[in-house]
Amino acid sequence: MFLPAHVRQSIAKLGADKTNGRSFFVYDLTVMKAKIAALKAALPQEVGIFYAMKANPNASFLKAALAADVAGVEIASIGEGRKALEAGFAPKQIVFTGPGKSPEELEWAVSTGIKLVHVESLTEAHRLEQICARHGVMQEILVRVNPNFHVHDAQASFSGDSSKFGIDQELYFGQLPQIAALPHLAFRGLHVYSASGVLQLDDLLENCRRVFELAKETEARVPGLQCSTIDFGGGFGIDYLETGRGFQPEAYAARLTALIAEHGFAGRHFVLELGRYLTADSGWYCTEIVDIKTSVGMKQIVCQGGSHHFRRPIALKINHPVDVVRMNAPAIFDGQQSVRNETAFIGGALCNSADKLTATPVHLEAADIGDLFVVGLAGAYGYSMSHLDFLSHPRPLEIVIAE
Ligand SMILES: *Cc1c(COP(=O)(O)O)cnc(C)c1O
Repeated sequence: MFLPAHVRQSIAKLGADKTNGRSFFVYDLTVMKAKIAALKAALPQEVGIFYAMKANPNASFLKAALAADVAGVEIASIGEGRKALEAGFAPKQIVFTGPGKSPEELEWAVSTGIKLVHVESLTEAHRLEQICARHGVMQEILVRVNPNFHVHDAQASFSGDSSKFGIDQELYFGQLPQIAALPHLAFRGLHVYSASGVLQLDDLLENCRRVFELAKETEARVPGLQCSTIDFGGGFGIDYLETGRGFQPEAYAARLTALIAEHGFAGRHFVLELGRYLTADSGWYCTEIVDIKTSVGMKQIVCQGGSHHFRRPIALKINHPVDVVRMNAPAIFDGQQSVRNETAFIGGALCNSADKLTATPVHLEAADIGDLFVVGLAGAYGYSMSHLDFLSHPRPLEIVIAE
């Protein structure tokens, strides 16, 4: 159930107080903490969970990840790095990924003394080497490989095609000796992040197996190199469509443990970068229904918020689970329209027709003007991924109801 009773009650209470605005995100961080605890209990000790903070960079999520004792945080910009430090992460808990790191960002990483830089190209390796030489320090690195295999069933796949991420697997062995020879970079292993939103265990495990094989091949081909750290991304999916086949952490952990043993990799370090899986079900987006009308035979619900607050459903063309929190607002005029057991379009207040909160019309039992329309699984890729300043509407608050 995507909207538990205590969250519904909190939303009704917050919605009744208009000082909160007419649109807001609600976060319950006990959900995130419980997911981290369950994963930690199931995973072998050498697998560290790193919070991929682009899923939700709100300080309360960073603090929840810290409180739940994750191994660290995965950042993709200097701005994320600063937020992570501010929330209390130590430099040695930070790994830095992403294409196109600027010279200033690399300079920041080196002078801050972060744990790992994931090098995404030969240029980046040389740029980082020069910065480290100037500082007179060694930087531990992983080399990001753009794999030539596909992970099935992914919502987003980053592998098998021409890519700005990492170094093509076909070019990797040619470029690796050059990177390994740079005197201020300490090669620690591989990073492969091939897909996001994967729900099938077989696909996730097959991805791990291929990454492990690549690590073995690296050690066989370049004598003296050891992949002491293997970062296989993560990519755990969220069951947005509520099919009932959500990700099973215990089963995953058991099979990963077996895979590690099979490859003789016990005692090495493994990095899991998780964003969506840890955060999506900790957040709900809520917005007041300001109008209901009929157009060409279909009900149109118009909300005060819209895709500028939560753009994921329309950007990815999927429907998140939705519900209505009834507010019993007084009628504005006799005969005003409502929705009763029917299918309605859910639009926002923006002056563009792509502004919808669901990709397709949804069936609702009951909705009236003044009720709150609630979009679930909004803790990941919500507020920070939306074009908040489009049309200069007020920004929604982010309200923590439990931590
Ligand atoms: C975005 C990203 C993640 C997190 O992906 P989720 O699907 O949110 O788990 C992890 N690692 C890297 C390198 C990323 O770019």
